[in-house]
Amino acid sequence: MIDQSLMHPIPDRRFKFGCHPEIACFTVCCAKLSLVLTPYDVLRLKNRLQLPSKIFLDRYTTSYVDENYGAPLVKLKMNEDEHRQCPFVSREGCTVYEDRPGACRMYPVGRAASKIPGWDKTGEYYFLVKEAHCLGFNEQRGWTIEEWIEDQGLAEYNTMNDLFLDITAGIPAKRLKSLSDKQLGMFHMACYNLDEFRKFLFSTTFLERFDLEPQLIDRLRTDETELIRFSCRWLRFALFGEKTMAARADLSPQTALPNR
Ligand code: SF4
Ligand code: SF4
Repeated sequence: MIDQSLMHPIPDRRFKFGCHPEIACFTVCCAKLSLVLTPYDVLRLKNRLQLPSKIFLDRYTTSYVDENYGAPLVKLKMNEDEHRQCPFVSREGCTVYEDRPGACRMYPVGRAASKIPGWDKTGEYYFLVKEAHCLGFNEQRGWTIEEWIEDQGLAEYNTMNDLFLDITAGIPAKRLKSLSDKQLGMFHMACYNLDEFRKFLFSTTFLERFDLEPQLIDRLRTDETELIRFSCRWLRFALFGEKTMAARADLSPQTALPNR
């Protein structure tokens, strides 16, 4: 959670900011972070590092259940020395820059997104996060919010992350908090451990039990963003009983859960 005293409105959606290797605070912001990774962040980072999902998760993240929302989340582990830097920072900057998480792209802009059940569109509000160590606000480069989103490659991140937000914020916390350990395990696997989720789809009787379009099955074999989209659809069916999937036979959400 961001300290509210650091949050500032952005009049006319315009602000001045610059960040570059010559600035005195360069990479100061890449330490001591509580950086929650979304499923799409995990996908981009594990592919960047050419690691299987499970190894990436074990090596770089901590898993926990959010006490307010009840959703299983993962955080990036900071280094365990006194500096507590991000494992991906170097003197030259971010070593995973092209695949850095959405929150790193957005900083120092904050995006509050909300989802009202039954409404199609995600509501969003932008603000600036002004931390004392960040000298970028002394720079004169002007931005609009739209220019910042474009420059930081955020559109794809926001689209993918909003699918996840639809579940974590769109489903009442009371329902999320009532999930069993087995259901939380499924939630975690489908969102973050995509290799395992793909195995669940293609190495079990899943495809015999559900009526999926052949083109979708082909895409699920090779396209991991499609796999994330599908995992959200699957979770809605398996955990919350929504009619987002068509079962071939009479199948309740309970019997749809894999034996893990
Ligand atoms: S603290 Fe601000 S200006 Fe300095 S490197 Fe981080 S984002 Fe850039
Ligand atoms: S992923 Fe990159 S930008 Fe984000 S905190 Fe780590 S080093 Fe900094």
